[in-house]
Amino acid sequence: MAQIKEFSVEEKLASLVSLQKIESKLDEYKILKDEITGLHSRQTRIEEEINGIQEFINQKKEIIKEADALIKKYDKQSQNVKNSREFEAINKEMEMQQLEVKLAEKHIKDANEEIAEKVIVLERAKKNVSSKEGVLKNKKDELDKIIATTEKEEKHFNKLSAEAREKVEPRLLISYDRIRKNYRNGLAVVPVLRDACGGCFNAIPPQRQSEIKQRKKIIVCENCGRILVDDDLNNAVEVK
Ligand SMILES: [Zn+2]
Repeated sequence: MAQIKEFSVEEKLASLVSLQKIESKLDEYKILKDEITGLHSRQTRIEEEINGIQEFINQKKEIIKEADALIKKYDKQSQNVKNSREFEAINKEMEMQQLEVKLAEKHIKDANEEIAEKVIVLERAKKNVSSKEGVLKNKKDELDKIIATTEKEEKHFNKLSAEAREKVEPRLLISYDRIRKNYRNGLAVVPVLRDACGGCFNAIPPQRQSEIKQRKKIIVCENCGRILVDDDLNNAVEVK
């Protein structure tokens, strides 16, 4: 027969706090990685936009070149006109080409201005990427005190998470996962901070706070449903 181990409520709460802290660490890695991926794709998008504008400028330059060539051609023709009717026709054609040149020049000017703006945005995006990468590096360095690489760390915390999950009884684990999934910050177990729920900041009456401190039963926030622990217990649980 399997030995059934009975945990006190206090032990259960401590297991939950530990699980929460481990999985919050894993959340941090995920958020940071997602952010960096997002910034990288933003940078790529801006680079593509700049390339597109550059192509547009090149097209306009080509149009100017062609129009210039035509103007020269008509200019030469006009010097060899036989009669005035033919001369007028050529003049009209030249005027049209001059307009074409003016229009293309205007488009180039606009496109250049747009590029200048994009370059600023791109520089900003690049700076953002490098600063985020700096944050990631700092985070890594900070945690590298324990293990060499982020991957190893994640593995480590994944392992811890699996272990911590085994220590929480199934019924509680289901509630924990359900609450965690409901909140963007992934917090299912929170301490009481400044007389309020550490998750939703709803005030907690003194009577309820002392019940939480007794650690005799599992108490959830009436407002957000998160599992509440006293700050001392929360601080006592360390995750490494
Ligand atoms: Zn709450």
